[in-house]
Amino acid sequence: METISTLKIEKRSNSKIGDVDFNNLPFGSVFTDHMFSCEYVNGQWQQSEIIPYGPIPMDPGAKVFHYGQAVFEGMKAFKDDNGKVFLFRPEDNWARINKSAARLAMPEFPKESFMEGLKELLKLDDAWIKSGEGNSLYIRPFVIATQSGVSASPSDRYKFIIILSPAQSYYAGEVNVVFAEKYSRAADGGVGFAKAAGNYAAQFYPTDLAKKEGYQQIIWTDASTHEFLEEAGTMNVFFRVGDKLLTAPTNDRILDGITRKSVIQLAKDAGIDVEVRQVSVKEIVAAAQAGELKEIFGVGTAAVVVPFKSFGYQDVNHKLNAPENSYGLKFKKMLNDIQYNRAEDKYGWRVVVK
Ligand SMILES: *Cc1c(COP(=O)(O)O)cnc(C)c1O
Repeated sequence: METISTLKIEKRSNSKIGDVDFNNLPFGSVFTDHMFSCEYVNGQWQQSEIIPYGPIPMDPGAKVFHYGQAVFEGMKAFKDDNGKVFLFRPEDNWARINKSAARLAMPEFPKESFMEGLKELLKLDDAWIKSGEGNSLYIRPFVIATQSGVSASPSDRYKFIIILSPAQSYYAGEVNVVFAEKYSRAADGGVGFAKAAGNYAAQFYPTDLAKKEGYQQIIWTDASTHEFLEEAGTMNVFFRVGDKLLTAPTNDRILDGITRKSVIQLAKDAGIDVEVRQVSVKEIVAAAQAGELKEIFGVGTAAVVVPFKSFGYQDVNHKLNAPENSYGLKFKKMLNDIQYNRAEDKYGWRVVVK
């Protein structure tokens, strides 16, 4: 066992990597050899450790099971053709998990432990990060309330864990979306801006209903009027009307996506007109009818960019024909080029791991 500053590392003796078919990896289903773990007890985060990946013992009374006091993050590591490993804007993920945690009355996790723990974990499981277009290592940090007790109050014990899952190019298949007319994802003053576990469970049922109608995802509208378009499933969403790009401003119902803000920056740099403002269902339907709606695409870490094939609203399906010079695909390439160390990194988004 070695100790790196305050980080304790216990290595697995035999790697599982030989059993993994890297050419056939359903997203998020295979995990690497190690995980990072830190416990919060007596008002303090204890010594962090990297240990072999495996089940964690939990008391059935733990508050996470009863009240959903849990937050998470989603990020990726990339390897270039020389074997160098990079993260993309990782400090933004650290800041966001703490923002999410604060909203759920959970303690914040220190930046140095987060960055050091994550980098050491990535170095240890380096063999799981494959180079080449589309390959990456998906990183899932999360915090759960572990105190036993079914009184509805914040836990006084937590576990912060990071697990890693090798990922191939995310192919979502054909994605048709439907605008939400009845259900909502988030409410004013609620937890929509946080990556709170319960937000996602609440989407499963309406999304299953949408699937029965032939739609793979829902574009969520504002909860009170259903007149404004906000998020696409678990992605932020952009609309291209003519040559102009539209996206909703972030607020307490919308998650402040790192891909979203990167796309806004890249679009501005490319001289594309971006309007960050409320986008109404009415104007998008009108633009589609007038033939001016060129693209709708979702953006997020897992898939980077997902262009949508069509959208449904009030039982009418509007087809979207992918334009030659798709903005969505252009941004996907620009982001991938920065992430894989193939393009200049003007804003210092790439962070070297090794
Ligand atoms: C994670 C997430 C996004 C995308 O955020 P990125 O930082 O770009 O990965 C968008 N919407 C929701 C609801 C999310 O959970």
